[in-house]
Amino acid sequence: MTLNVQTNVSLKAYNTFGVEVRARYFAEAFTDDDVREALSYSAGHDLPLMVIGGGSNLLLTQDVDALVLRMASRGTRITHEDCGGAIVEAEAGEPWHPFVLETLAQGLAGLENLSFIPGTVGAAPMQNIGAYGVELKDVFHSLIAMDRHNGELREFTLADCAFGYRDSVFKQQPNRWLILRVRFKLSFSASLHLDYGPVRQRLEEQGIKEPSPMHVSRAICAIRSEKLPDPATLGNAGSFFKNPLVPAEQFAFIKSAWPGVVGYPQADGQVKLAAGWLIEQAGWKGFREGDAGVHALQSLVLVNYGQASGKQLLALAQRIQSDILERFGVALEMEPNLY
Ligand code: FAD
Ligand code: NAP
Repeated sequence: MTLNVQTNVSLKAYNTFGVEVRARYFAEAFTDDDVREALSYSAGHDLPLMVIGGGSNLLLTQDVDALVLRMASRGTRITHEDCGGAIVEAEAGEPWHPFVLETLAQGLAGLENLSFIPGTVGAAPMQNIGAYGVELKDVFHSLIAMDRHNGELREFTLADCAFGYRDSVFKQQPNRWLILRVRFKLSFSASLHLDYGPVRQRLEEQGIKEPSPMHVSRAICAIRSEKLPDPATLGNAGSFFKNPLVPAEQFAFIKSAWPGVVGYPQADGQVKLAAGWLIEQAGWKGFREGDAGVHALQSLVLVNYGQASGKQLLALAQRIQSDILERFGVALEMEPNLY
């Protein structure tokens, strides 16, 4: 028995919104055996098990009557290498951004556009994290997950994961799979994605004509830190809403009324709307009620100025959803996982 189960633990430090709720039981898993022990503890006590990583994609609206298991397993290794690249495996509890930097320092390209995303390796497949035109699925090799129903390990290939826009089989089957380690297929020769947002422009401003993956990573870190609130100083969970996909006809209709609407045509004929633009047009940017607010620089980000509760943040999110539906006929879907 190595699992240290504590009772009545504050989760304020374990969610980047900084919301104060308490967990009835709390433990950290450093090994696969810890995870197995947590599964049998929760079964033995007839308790749900709630798995967390860095808590950067959570909105906690109530005390958690469960065993909260924080994934704290560490370690990375190259499992295969040839002249073209390598497969790198990382344990679920590895912090994401330091892992990205480690691969770049090894001369491996692929994760640079996903720099500076908070959270852990194990949570990254949950919503197929994405930024600056790259998604986890683009560099994913496979992962090992534990089936919470029977404790058995299963390997998932790319096809098994059903990755979509901020979506995966793990998100679709909540409480079924506990991700233990993830493998990435990275390359020694860089094929860079610079055509998204201000990345190329930032590199040009710095006089970098032939960027390396590390240059791209640094540029993205700089852009992100100028635009996004740092959870260490202002509680948030990144983008609070997904960018909605609408049929081309609906986009044309919205554009006739709001010519400035921002939309990105997708391969399937739909158009991705910038949810942040809709929220800003509706006048929510910089809105604050009590300690719950909409960030002044990025209207897709809800923020906790200090003492906001999860319920207050949720109520604000629901007001925004109703308003956007009424004004534009567009339903916004929340991105963070609600408890
Ligand atoms: P948590 O919030 O702890 O958990 C998220 C979900 O995953 C929960 O449902 C949890 O139960 C589940 N989970 C966690 N670990 C495991 C595991 N090992 N096995 C099974 N289930 C698990 N996201 C993006 O996609 N792109 C971005 O650019 C981005 N930028 C962000 C910027 C900021 C400032 C912030 C605060 C967030 C941002 N996010 C972004 C959201 C978030 O960082 C990511 O979704 C991240 O992958 C969440 O990791 P986490 O470890 O914090 O997960
Ligand atoms: P941005 O560059 O201001 O762009 C606004 C929105 O337009 C983004 O949400 C993005 O959609 C979309 N977009 C921009 N250029 C695009 C292009 N060339 N093709 C298709 N869609 C395009 O966004 P930002 O807020 O500064 O964020 C930059 C990147 O980091 C984005 O990819 C964003 O998703 C990611 N990010 C995610 C989170 C999160 O919590 N999920 C938080 C911060 C940043 P996409 O979001 O679909 O890329």
